[in-house]
Amino acid sequence: RAHTTETTETAEAAAENDEPRCSLPLPVLGRDVTVPLVTGGEVAYAALDYAASAPALQRVWDDVAAYAPYYGSVHRGAGYLSQLSTDLFENSRATVAEFLDCRDGDQVVFTRSTTDSLNLLAAVLPAECQVFVFETEHHASLLPWHDAQVTYLDAPRSHDEAIRTVERALADRNPSPGSRLRSSRGGPHAPALVCVTGASNVTGELWPVRELAAAAHAHGARIVLDAAQLAPHHAVSVRESDVDWVAFSGHKLYAPFGAGVLAGRADWLQVAEPYLAGGGASRTVARRADGALQVEWHTTAARHEAGSPNVIGVYAIAAACKALTEAGFDSLVAREQHLIDTVRAGLAEVPEVRVLSLFGDDAPRVGVISFVVEGWNSSHFAAALSAEYGIGVRDGLFCAHPLVRILLGSDPQDAGECGAPEAGPGEPSLNAIRVSFGAGT
Ligand code: PLP
Repeated sequence: RAHTTETTETAEAAAENDEPRCSLPLPVLGRDVTVPLVTGGEVAYAALDYAASAPALQRVWDDVAAYAPYYGSVHRGAGYLSQLSTDLFENSRATVAEFLDCRDGDQVVFTRSTTDSLNLLAAVLPAECQVFVFETEHHASLLPWHDAQVTYLDAPRSHDEAIRTVERALADRNPSPGSRLRSSRGGPHAPALVCVTGASNVTGELWPVRELAAAAHAHGARIVLDAAQLAPHHAVSVRESDVDWVAFSGHKLYAPFGAGVLAGRADWLQVAEPYLAGGGASRTVARRADGALQVEWHTTAARHEAGSPNVIGVYAIAAACKALTEAGFDSLVAREQHLIDTVRAGLAEVPEVRVLSLFGDDAPRVGVISFVVEGWNSSHFAAALSAEYGIGVRDGLFCAHPLVRILLGSDPQDAGECGAPEAGPGEPSLNAIRVSFGAGT
C-alpha cells in the first residue's frame, strides 16, 4: 500500500512530499536505490524477500567497514594484523555461542551457509545412523543425508501431529544388535538424528522444536535444528530448546558476507573425518618411515574449518548477533507481528488471494507469507509487482518442492520444474508468491 505513490512521481519527489515509501539503505553506494517502472516514473525499491537474503543491518556494514582495512590471515601470522584478525575471528565464535545460548562444551563451527552446515553434519554421522526428516523441509535439510538410512515423514497438520509422528517413527525404528544405545522401550537402537526446521521458509510457521527435541531424546535420538528462518526473527536457545545442533546462514541473519554456522555437541564432530582436509584442520602432519603421511587432526572446531576462513563473513555474523541482541528480540518480534498482521489483513481483503498454511491461521509464524492469486500466474504476478510497483518478492516452489505441492494441492509426486508454466484456467496454481520481511523492514 505504501507503494501506491503516483507512478509518474520520482522517489526523490515523493521524499520531498513526505510520501510514505520504503527504501533499501545502501550506504556503500551512499544513496537509496530507485527502479524505473514499466508504467513510467520510478520508485524506491522495496525488497520483501528477506527469507532468501536479508539486507545487512547498518551495524553490520559499520563494523565490517571499520575492520576491513585491517584484514589479515587468521591463525597463521605473527604480525599485528594477523593477530588482530585471529582475535576477532575467535571472539566472533564466542559471540555466536552466546547468541545461541550454547551449553558448555558445545562447538561453534564456521561454514559457508546452512546448506554447508547440514552437509557437514551429514558427513560426520556415526555408522548406521538413521535420519528422520519431514517431507516439508527445505531442500537443504531434506537432501544432504544421502549416505544415511533416511526416513521421510509425512507432512503433519498440527504441532501435536508432528510430535506424534516423530515419536512413532523413532519407536518403530529398526533395532541394531551391534549398538549399545537403548531406546525408551529398552531395545537396542542404532544412532538416530531428527532434522527439523524452526520456521518454515514457505509458510513462516514455527515448529514445536522443544517438544520435538524431548521426543527425540526420549527415544535415544538426537536432533538438529535448521534455524535459517528462525534465527533472524526469534531468539534461539540451544540450552533451553535442548537441540543437539543448530544451523543458520549469515546472509539471512542480515550479515551477507558468505559465512554460516553449525553449533552444538562436540562428540560426533570431534571424532569424524574432517569435512574438508587441509591446512588449519591438522595439528601435525609427518612422513612415516613407510612413506605414508601421518596426520593428527584437531579435535576443536578447526577440524572442520580447513583452509583460510571467511573472516569478514564470520565477523559480520558476530556483528549481526550483537545488533539483534541489543535491539532485543522482544521488541523485534512485537514489531514484526504488527507487520505480519498488517500484510495478512491486507491479503484477506482480496478474495482471489489464498494464503498457504500447514498448521492453520492461528499458528505462530515469522514474517514469511506465501500465497497464490486465483487467475494469476504467480511468476507473472511477481514480475508485475517488481516492474510496476518496485516490490521485490519471490515466486516458485522455494526449494521446498514437496511442501509447496502439498499446500497447492498439486500432485506431490510431480517432478515438474521450479517455476513451471502456470496451470490452465480453473486448475490449481503450480507455484506461489512469497513476501518476507524482518528487522529493518
Ligand atoms: N533452510 C531453510 C529453512 C531455508 O529457508 C534456507 C534458505 O532459503 C536454507 C535452509 C538454506 O540456506 P542457505 O541457502 O543459506 O544455505
